[in-house]
Amino acid sequence: MNTRPVHVVGGGLAGAEATWQLAEAGVSVILHEMRPIRGTDAHHTDQLAELVCSNSFRADDWTGNAVGLLHAEMRRLSSLILACGDAHQVPAGGALAVDREGFAQAVTARLAAHPQVTIAREEIAGLPPADWDSVIVATGPLTSPALAEAILALAGEDQLSFFDAIAPIVNFDSIDMDVAWRQSRYDKEGPGGEAAAYINCPMDKAQYEAFIDALLAGPKSEFKAWENVPYFDGCLPIEVMAERGRETLRHGPMKPVGLTNAHNPAEKAYAVVQLRQDNALGTLWNMVGFQTKLKHGAQSEIFRTIPGLEKAVFARLGGLHRNTFLNSPRLLDRQLRLKADTRLRFAGQVTGVEGYVESAAIGLLAGRLAAAERLGQALEPPPPTTALGALIGHITGGHLEGGKGSFQPMNINYGLLPPLDTPKRTDDGRRLGAKERGRAKKRLMGERALADLAAWQTPSPVLEPAE
Ligand SMILES: Cc1cc2nc3c(=O)[nH]c(=O)nc-3n(C[C@H](O)[C@H](O)[C@H](O)COP(=O)(O)OP(=O)(O)OC[C@H]3O[C@@H](n4cnc5c(N)ncnc54)[C@H](O)[C@@H]3O)c2cc1C
Repeated sequence: MNTRPVHVVGGGLAGAEATWQLAEAGVSVILHEMRPIRGTDAHHTDQLAELVCSNSFRADDWTGNAVGLLHAEMRRLSSLILACGDAHQVPAGGALAVDREGFAQAVTARLAAHPQVTIAREEIAGLPPADWDSVIVATGPLTSPALAEAILALAGEDQLSFFDAIAPIVNFDSIDMDVAWRQSRYDKEGPGGEAAAYINCPMDKAQYEAFIDALLAGPKSEFKAWENVPYFDGCLPIEVMAERGRETLRHGPMKPVGLTNAHNPAEKAYAVVQLRQDNALGTLWNMVGFQTKLKHGAQSEIFRTIPGLEKAVFARLGGLHRNTFLNSPRLLDRQLRLKADTRLRFAGQVTGVEGYVESAAIGLLAGRLAAAERLGQALEPPPPTTALGALIGHITGGHLEGGKGSFQPMNINYGLLPPLDTPKRTDDGRRLGAKERGRAKKRLMGERALADLAAWQTPSPVLEPAE
């Protein structure tokens, strides 16, 4: 058996969790963390798993919230991050929020005390040495420049982003298809022969003018000085486009040409908002060209004025931040290994997930997958019906390629899981309202996920050879 250590680079949420999972599987690990030798623009301490901003792991209810389901799954897989979060929680209603110092100190102490773990305080300032045969890179959104450049050179131009330009994503079943319709511009067929690839939401002149006014007036988030992201002309925030001229959007992402309203062919739309399918399941649709720095509350309000999106449920709202992440669907295999150099595995925010919990979740999976590989065992990722499986599925293949920059960081959400038929009536025959059906669906998805995770965890029985 190969007894050489696995190397984990970066001791944030993902790296700490990956290290723990490896160590608990009996594999020796060297965790390389550059702080305090070298800092980042957001971290303030030398603790592992430092929370750089909020102290919340968000909703903790597995029956009604996708991140709560992720918590539940991670607890079942002995997550260090969840165990320390639970031990250091502070009152936060239905959310799991933590005392950030107590939490980070606990993670650091548990790892430092583990007999399989060595912690090296050093920056890995280039590709890991050739004799490290198994490495997990978990260096996060603020990966040090020297390592980021080395990864860029290995992965190829355009495959590593240094900021995210996020357009909102809408759950398909919240779009009013009595108003919107499916059609590609000029009915142009895509590579798969699909001529109705987009969902189109029409606007008349008055609606467009009101929309532009709202964009210009809406509150915007400010960049932090170190975040200063240069705007690229290909992905200007919509409000910046609107500032350049009231007609700019109508000649850009909202142009109405080549489209005929299927519900009212005689009426020509003044502007059209297009949505493009975002995941293979067809449950998530992104608003094309709608990257924005509008505050989240304003986004929901303004985008729900778009005809067809009045009841939109947003799986993700737009944003623009400094961030370092790979074009994972193209670069990583299902084991989170870099196809171009399979000794390197990636974990955490650098894989294109978003959030503390999601980063730790991918760290958990990377740790388990690397441990199984080291121990000579075959391990497949969890099934796509689980939150963990949905998350890894999204970054390693669920996202549909939609041109340059189309893969953008994402939080866990129900749209990443395969849909489920919702019961229309209670057991005693009473008809369920829309809200009740929504709640019932989430609970059923949670139950399905936890049952499937349990089956994934249980080794299949060894069959006796037939006589
Ligand atoms: C400013 C900011 C605020 C955020 N706020 C939130 C929030 O409120 N809630 C939320 O859920 N998510 C937030 N996020 C998003 C994200 O979930 C967190 O950044 C999360 O910490 C990511 O986990 P990670 O393990 O991938 O990276 P990190 O936790 O950042 O860990 C990466 C580690 O790698 C180390 N490192 C980097 N380069 C090297 C190198 N070359 N050699 C050795 N070590 C290296 C770093 O020092 C760091 O300790 C925020 C992100 C940023 C940038």
